[in-house]
Amino acid sequence: MNKHTDSYYAHSIPNVSEYPQLQDNIECDVCVVGAGFSGLSSALHLAEKGFKVVVLENAKVGFGATGRNGGQIVNSYSRDVDVIESRYGDKQAKALCDMIFEGGDIIRGLIEKHNIDCDFKQGGMFTALNIKQLKGLEEHKKHWERYGNDQLTMMDANEVEAAVGTSAYKGALLDMRGGHIHPLKLALGEAAAVTALGGQIFEQSGVTRIEKGANPVAHTEKGSVKAKYLVLAGNAYLGGLAPNISNKAIPCGTQVVATEPLSETLLKDILPSDYCVEDCNYLLDYFRLSADKRLLFGGGVVYGARDPENIEALIRPKMEKIFPQLKGIGIDYKWTGNFLLTYSRMPQFGSFADNIYYLQGYSGHGVTCTHLAGKLLAEALTGHAERFDAFADLTHVTFPGGRHFAIPFTAMGAAYYNLRDKLAI
Ligand SMILES: Cc1cc2nc3c(=O)[nH]c(=O)nc-3n(C[C@H](O)[C@H](O)[C@H](O)COP(=O)(O)OP(=O)(O)OC[C@H]3O[C@@H](n4cnc5c(N)ncnc54)[C@H](O)[C@@H]3O)c2cc1C
Repeated sequence: MNKHTDSYYAHSIPNVSEYPQLQDNIECDVCVVGAGFSGLSSALHLAEKGFKVVVLENAKVGFGATGRNGGQIVNSYSRDVDVIESRYGDKQAKALCDMIFEGGDIIRGLIEKHNIDCDFKQGGMFTALNIKQLKGLEEHKKHWERYGNDQLTMMDANEVEAAVGTSAYKGALLDMRGGHIHPLKLALGEAAAVTALGGQIFEQSGVTRIEKGANPVAHTEKGSVKAKYLVLAGNAYLGGLAPNISNKAIPCGTQVVATEPLSETLLKDILPSDYCVEDCNYLLDYFRLSADKRLLFGGGVVYGARDPENIEALIRPKMEKIFPQLKGIGIDYKWTGNFLLTYSRMPQFGSFADNIYYLQGYSGHGVTCTHLAGKLLAEALTGHAERFDAFADLTHVTFPGGRHFAIPFTAMGAAYYNLRDKLAI
């Protein structure tokens, strides 16, 4: 039995839903592999368009990054708008950038439409640790405003300190189109919406083999699903099921801790705004409060996604550096999760063998883009592939170093950028 990781989230969901294991040979229009945000958003958007969908999940709904992440609704992609504009042609860059706020809108729409109780809070801050980063945020604001976000405000160091009780930052960009959620509750709400629309979800039903053909088949240990289309949404957890797409990116781990619930005095001191926060470092730290008033603090990257031996030893010093007030605070939960890093930092959407689609590689920021991904996939399968193709046409550059050296080379590159952040150059 594959259980949720031992996270704060898994301990704070009201009723643990149980979906059955697949024990039959069935047929449908679209079989989705993986019940994270990519798979659930695909299933939901497809079911809304009348497709008969089946979702196969190896473990539990939200088992992967979806049910373990920082819960931060961060707009756009892991690549900044200016890089997209300079790297891709005008038409493609515009098509990509026109969608940068859509994932967040989809989330807010789903919460409202399906009445999903997932502790949603409005407002997210990007904080600058040095003047160079602050200047970068000012540029960032201009870029996002050009694409229609009029809910952005620059904050100086004093304003930041009033919102986040620390003097660590030189300033920040506040995005009121960002915010935070309990990601596992959102995933469970979306799963319920899929089944309410007639979709089927099977847990403990890992796909072990794909049979290509006019009607591809996903085989599990005890059953199979024959479909018109397969959608692979296993992201960093897909393993060896489809090496042709796993080889395009590398899994990376990042760690989160949840403190004990904080006193009213500490709450007012450290995060009176209740915004979520991420800093601008290459290896960034991110934090926010939970609904029951814990600080959830994440950071660091383990290239290759090995599980670190002592998560608290990695994260506590970062947390106490930002908030010395929390020195010695109790840590109730600590966990790790894997995201999928691409060389371009842009997500990878595409298809192979005519009818097998994939959505993956959000490179650390995937809460919003996964929701966009599902919508674009549903558009593509109903004959409107233009927006899906804006992503699918991007070249999927593989990491230098091949199978053996891609991870150490990437870790070395990250160490260099980390040093630059520390030296503020
Ligand atoms: C610790 C952490 C913190 C993060 N914080 C943030 C954040 O604050 N904001 C943000 O925007 N992004 C964040 N991210 C990234 C974000 O969580 C991911 O990009 C996003 O959740 C990816 O969703 P997904 O559905 O593509 O993949 P996942 O959520 O990983 O889901 C993949 C699912 O597929 C299943 N699966 C895999 N193989 C098979 C198979 N063969 N058969 C059946 N099922 C299979 C897995 O069990 C898993 O449930 C974070 C990631 C991590 C790890």
